[in-house]
Amino acid sequence: MSEKNLQVLLARRPVGRAQESDFRLVESEIPRVGEGEFLVRNHFLSLDPYMRGRMSDAKSYARPVDVGGVMTGETAGVVVESRHPDYKPGDKVVVHRGWQLYSVSNGEAARRIEDDRLPLSAYLGVAGMPGETAYIGLLDIGQPRRGETVVVSAASGAVGSVVGQIAKMRGCRVVGIAGGPEKCRYTVEELGFDACVDYKAGRLREDLAAAAPDGIDVYFENVGGEIFDVVLSMMNPFGRIPVCGRISQYDAAEPYPTRNIGSILINRLKVQGFIVSDHPERRKTARKDLVQWVLEGRLKYRESVVEGLENAPRAFLDLLAGRNFGKQLVKLV
Ligand code: NDP
Repeated sequence: MSEKNLQVLLARRPVGRAQESDFRLVESEIPRVGEGEFLVRNHFLSLDPYMRGRMSDAKSYARPVDVGGVMTGETAGVVVESRHPDYKPGDKVVVHRGWQLYSVSNGEAARRIEDDRLPLSAYLGVAGMPGETAYIGLLDIGQPRRGETVVVSAASGAVGSVVGQIAKMRGCRVVGIAGGPEKCRYTVEELGFDACVDYKAGRLREDLAAAAPDGIDVYFENVGGEIFDVVLSMMNPFGRIPVCGRISQYDAAEPYPTRNIGSILINRLKVQGFIVSDHPERRKTARKDLVQWVLEGRLKYRESVVEGLENAPRAFLDLLAGRNFGKQLVKLV
């Protein structure tokens, strides 16, 4: 292999809003494969909102990326060399070794794609971590019942789009919240949601009340901030709120002062945060169902793909600003 490796490093911790200068693209040697390891040529890099948290050293559920270290992230690719008993050249894999063209893995946080009937990129999205997050958060914590109203924010995105479609399969009324008429149109006309509220139109409370006339039983929380506050005030008694993400707050200089916390008590709500990586067994079950549903045409997905690792920082900043439309990926070959 005469090619070099390319990596994106964390150049410095962002102060306030993350910027392109917080990242650095470097060329390096392709890593050598030690005993018990395998080398992957990555085809797709997944860009995910949680990466903003890893750039910061504020207290969190996972340790931050070191300054000068390779940005954390999952890639999907093909094994090109192996000294690991469970992986052989040609295997399609997902590994968690960061933003780079080539990764060496010892098998930790890695998996071979056993059922490879979907395109490789799908195993980073609808049939990967975001899809599993939607499945576990909605079904295990949200526990939607037929006829209930389920609201999901960041509705056209990797997680939100799967949440809404599973809730429809469960016989719920599904209302999305998304930024802009095009994303809203997509969730209703292509994904089958019952309604979608464009929170950027400036009438969030009125539009949500009209879209959810019987109140809200399950709110799948992806964004935090004002949207969370408004939804809280519309929850029905004994409603459930899986707290999956708070993307509006990741880059915010000041935290949003939530006012309607009292609704949790008055309505006896169940509000539960969760992290998908805490549920390895459920993830396997989720993956099986998700692949099957895609193959049957019951679960649709959309991707935003940029070409080239050098464009990953810009694409990541666009994701945080809502300029992606569907699962954000970087194509590496
Ligand atoms: P998406 O594909 O949904 O992309 C992010 C979207 O967030 C943007 O497209 C944008 O959509 C929306 N957004 C950005 N800024 C704001 C804002 N200020 N207010 C409202 N919406 C905003 O990303 P994912 O599906 O990958 O992730 C969705 C959420 O799930 C994130 O919060 C993420 O951190 C969380 N997550 C949590 C996991 C867990 O284990 N708990 C695992 C995976 C994801 P729009 O244009 O509609 O505003």
